[in-house]
Amino acid sequence: MKDKSFETQAIRQQHERSHNNEHSVPVYLTSSFVFDTAEDMRAAFADESDAFIYSRYTNPNTDEFVSKMCLLEGAEAGVASASGMAAIYTSLAALLKSGDHIISCSSVFGATHTIFTKYFPKWNISHSYFNINNPDTIVALIKGNTKIIYLETPTNPAIEVIDLEFVSKIAKQHNLLLIVDNCFATPFLQQPIKYGADIVIHSATKYIDGQGRVLGGIVLGKKELIKEIYLFGRITGPSLSPFNAWVLSKSLETLSLRMERHCENALHIAAKLESYSSLEFVKYPFLKSHPHYSIAIKQMKGGGGIVTFSLKGGFEAGKKFMDKLKMIKISPNLGDARTIATHPASSTHCKLSLEERNSVGITEGLIRISVGLENKEDILQDILQALP
Ligand SMILES: *Cc1c(COP(=O)(O)O)cnc(C)c1O
Repeated sequence: MKDKSFETQAIRQQHERSHNNEHSVPVYLTSSFVFDTAEDMRAAFADESDAFIYSRYTNPNTDEFVSKMCLLEGAEAGVASASGMAAIYTSLAALLKSGDHIISCSSVFGATHTIFTKYFPKWNISHSYFNINNPDTIVALIKGNTKIIYLETPTNPAIEVIDLEFVSKIAKQHNLLLIVDNCFATPFLQQPIKYGADIVIHSATKYIDGQGRVLGGIVLGKKELIKEIYLFGRITGPSLSPFNAWVLSKSLETLSLRMERHCENALHIAAKLESYSSLEFVKYPFLKSHPHYSIAIKQMKGGGGIVTFSLKGGFEAGKKFMDKLKMIKISPNLGDARTIATHPASSTHCKLSLEERNSVGITEGLIRISVGLENKEDILQDILQALP
């Protein structure tokens, strides 16, 4: 039988019904599960049965969320976690040991950068950053103790795109694991495993929830790797709550619809903004002027919901623009039904030096718009009235 399409799987893959024959899967708010006999409990602990034991390990709601995401990303297995950072930290901590080295793209999520630069050195795990515009440089950074190549694409907030097929080839040639944070694209727009990634990570807090309600994360990939991450997580406890898993599972039912609209709105706004003279540049993966346009259209089904642009007036112009917005809210979040604006230089990236900001593509006047699901003309109008 032909595999079901993305849209159908996102809706029809469900946890089996309980004896009540409910149509919508209920929330299993229970910390533990009971066994009929001591022998049943022994078998569960000995991994001889897949009975639920304790919700720090697994729960029907987290199971449902994981099984849907596996289908959507084309992964063998997965582990859900309390947040995107829990997914990133748990995966890396489970797979790395003291003395190991990791190569990452230079522009990664701020907290991921802090793990690499502040916490990993405490455990003697080192890192090198490669230049996104020149992934050829990865090979020169590989050392005897390198274990992992880690990347995000599109990157936050520079919206650069990295060729997954190209980096995956390098990883395979050198026997390294490739981990991809697929938060900005979601499996609807891009499936990194298809291009050879070993592990895909999501902050489900963003587009997967899509409505700014819950925190969540997930790690997906090959069975043997996921098993190691699962066993580490089950002991250290970054587990996803059953309620949040239930919300996220429901959210997946509308992911394709939402992503189509995010992409349509974002492309419309980016294309219109390109003609404004007060802007130094506008960046969106599906604009022909984007330096990585050809890579984006090769590996993504749409450009995603994030548009960035830089105001010629720099830092002060950036802050002024934010204050002039009427409908669009100022917030660090993204991937919401509501359009959100962020000025990275004065907020998420204010602790970086000017030089560090420039090296990851953050100009002083850079604005990141997480384009929501409102009417695209209403969003555009609010942005235009706030421009100098
Ligand atoms: C938000 C984000 C994270 C962290 O996710 P949380 O759910 O906030 O912990 C990781 N990577 C990217 C690209 C993000 O945007």
